[in-house]
Amino acid sequence: MKTLNSYLSETVINMKPSGIRKFFDLAANMEGVISLGVGEPDFVTPWNVREACILSLEQGFTSYTANAGLYELREKISEYLFKRFDLQYDPAEEIIVTVGASQAIDIAFRSIINSGDEVLIIEPCFVSYAPLVTLAGGKPVSVSTFGEEEFKVNPEILEKYITSKTKAIMICTPNNPTGTVLSKKELEAVAQIAKRYDLLVVADEIYAELCYEDEYVSMPSIEGMKERTILISGFSKGFAMTGWRLGYIAADRVFARAMLKVHQYSIMCAPTMAQYAALEALENDEDVLYMRKSYQRRRNYIVQSLNEAGLFCHMPGGAFYAFPSIKSTGLSSEEFAERLLLEEKVAVVPGNVFGQSGEGYIRCSYASSMEQLQEAMKRIKRFVQSL
Ligand code: PMP
Repeated sequence: MKTLNSYLSETVINMKPSGIRKFFDLAANMEGVISLGVGEPDFVTPWNVREACILSLEQGFTSYTANAGLYELREKISEYLFKRFDLQYDPAEEIIVTVGASQAIDIAFRSIINSGDEVLIIEPCFVSYAPLVTLAGGKPVSVSTFGEEEFKVNPEILEKYITSKTKAIMICTPNNPTGTVLSKKELEAVAQIAKRYDLLVVADEIYAELCYEDEYVSMPSIEGMKERTILISGFSKGFAMTGWRLGYIAADRVFARAMLKVHQYSIMCAPTMAQYAALEALENDEDVLYMRKSYQRRRNYIVQSLNEAGLFCHMPGGAFYAFPSIKSTGLSSEEFAERLLLEEKVAVVPGNVFGQSGEGYIRCSYASSMEQLQEAMKRIKRFVQSL
């Protein structure tokens, strides 16, 4: 028999494991670590949502749902998107309930990419985009944004990366890891480029509920963008439901039909009990407001403390991440994160794992209790002073 490695796909062999995991694994073997590393809410899913799931099980709702998801849930998602973001999607044909936003991104790329197609990926960004483009046979093309511009998309830079092979632009707002929110004007600038060059936009808006300043504007609500945008969202972040694995896609029926084919052959449908829970999450969502207010307080605290510690940090408009510069310390992002973990037992994520332009920054998730954040900031200040 040949070596087992030789049976593996070359694409997978060449794929690097996520840089975030490395730090979790290091931290997991140490005691007394405060983790600002994880990208998930510290809240337990609200009780009414958990209870709705239990009730669905008691009633014996344990079969598959329709491939696209429970019709009542798609209707609720459609109403929610209209009420919150002024979007109009037909629940019968334009919404698919997925296994997290993760699967939504995967089927979006697999449905639009032909071999060699390029997707412009605005970085720093969530670690899955580029590998999922590659798995779909496409070519991820990094487009940097910069701390000096609060990591906003620079249309002139974006335009320079467009070639005859460019198929789509991947954007995420509010952004992981920078927390940056794109305003209506900034979205319009991206939209103009998409229209001028006839490109699609895949818009990851999973943090849309966690937006702290202005009214949130969704990409497909920009004029002429609904038919060009594949909207990705889900319940993990704003609704504190990471473990339920529930997200959704909203897109023109041409795209939705294509994605449904990939979805039905690979997944069949999202978990039924999680769909019943999501139905309740949208029906009675008072806790979302409470959680948002709580994150906002913590954001204000951590951003002020990081700046006091000498780590310049812009005020992120959304999500639950602060992305301070550590350039003044002279350390690389990896060195800073590794030494902070070993010397002060605080886990953060080095910014370079989110793309080259994240070098010189670290990601601190503030989805931790205020007490934990205060202790972490005490340690970070001590660490910076010791350098
Ligand atoms: N998009 C972004 C920007 C994220 O930060 C995450 C989770 N970290 C996801 C998608 C995946 O979310 P889900 O749990 O819904 O798969």
